[in-house]
Amino acid sequence: MFFSENHAPTPLEAIIDEHTTKAKVKLFVKRDDLIHPSVSGNKFRKLKFNLLEAKKLGKDTLLTFGGAFSNHIHATASAGKLMGFKTIGIIRGEEHLPLNPTLAYATEQGMQLHYIDRTSYRQKAEPAFIEQLKAQFGDFYLIPEGGTNALALKGVAELPAEIDIPHDYICCATGTGGTTAGIISTAKATVLGFSALKGNFLQKDVQKLLGRPYPNWAMVNDYHFGGYAKKKPELEEFIDWFNTTHNIPLEWIYTGKMMFGVYDLMKKEFFREGSNIVAVHTGGLQAVGKKV
Ligand SMILES: *Cc1c(COP(=O)(O)O)cnc(C)c1O
Repeated sequence: MFFSENHAPTPLEAIIDEHTTKAKVKLFVKRDDLIHPSVSGNKFRKLKFNLLEAKKLGKDTLLTFGGAFSNHIHATASAGKLMGFKTIGIIRGEEHLPLNPTLAYATEQGMQLHYIDRTSYRQKAEPAFIEQLKAQFGDFYLIPEGGTNALALKGVAELPAEIDIPHDYICCATGTGGTTAGIISTAKATVLGFSALKGNFLQKDVQKLLGRPYPNWAMVNDYHFGGYAKKKPELEEFIDWFNTTHNIPLEWIYTGKMMFGVYDLMKKEFFREGSNIVAVHTGGLQAVGKKV
């Protein structure tokens, strides 16, 4: 079965350029973007134990939530199909035709899409609302927005043990905080979560997901570039430079902002000399049309 096979550890690629040399650090990219062709990056890890649990419970349908450009919707549609589940995607906002590539892909995988207005969407975690969905769609296994729950953390928690070199930092992009919390829970290094959203509420969200204090992490809130899915020319220039120099594509919603932040912190001499830094490439490239 798809997830029950242990996938090989994703590659760790050394990144050497004038900035890493000047900062006297070693930088590695953990290529979770290569984890699977259509179940991208961290979404693969977050779905793994959820889908195994859904099978164990004998469920035949998965229901989840997301925005129109959600990597999680894309990944759930694909993994659901590969594991023989029906999938239902509850999408925030109105339908826009033609469907964008994310939703067109989800539909092609057999995902049934339902659109709800932003006010209803805010109730997505409330029991009464979930009951209403069960009355409408029948029984399903519920995966929350972004795929973040305890089983998602368990999947991501497998990542740090795959890093087979000494390392001082693990850096990753933070959206809902599930990936960051999962990494923190088993990391033997300092974890830096780079917020893709404006504000500093993610500190609390990650803390809540962890359930107890951990000493080994911090949120970095300075590289959101105006907010979720917002971008600026200097971010795009950096992404182009990084891709040209290292032949690794990034997107501007999550991984581009994280890597921009890592380079800026290197330039500001945040990392002490001799540090080994692992930056996790959480995937998401299909959302910007880089690959499917
Ligand atoms: C969803 C996503 C994230 C954010 O993950 P969370 O667990 O929600 O914090 C980071 N990077 C990419 C590429 C993503 O698709």
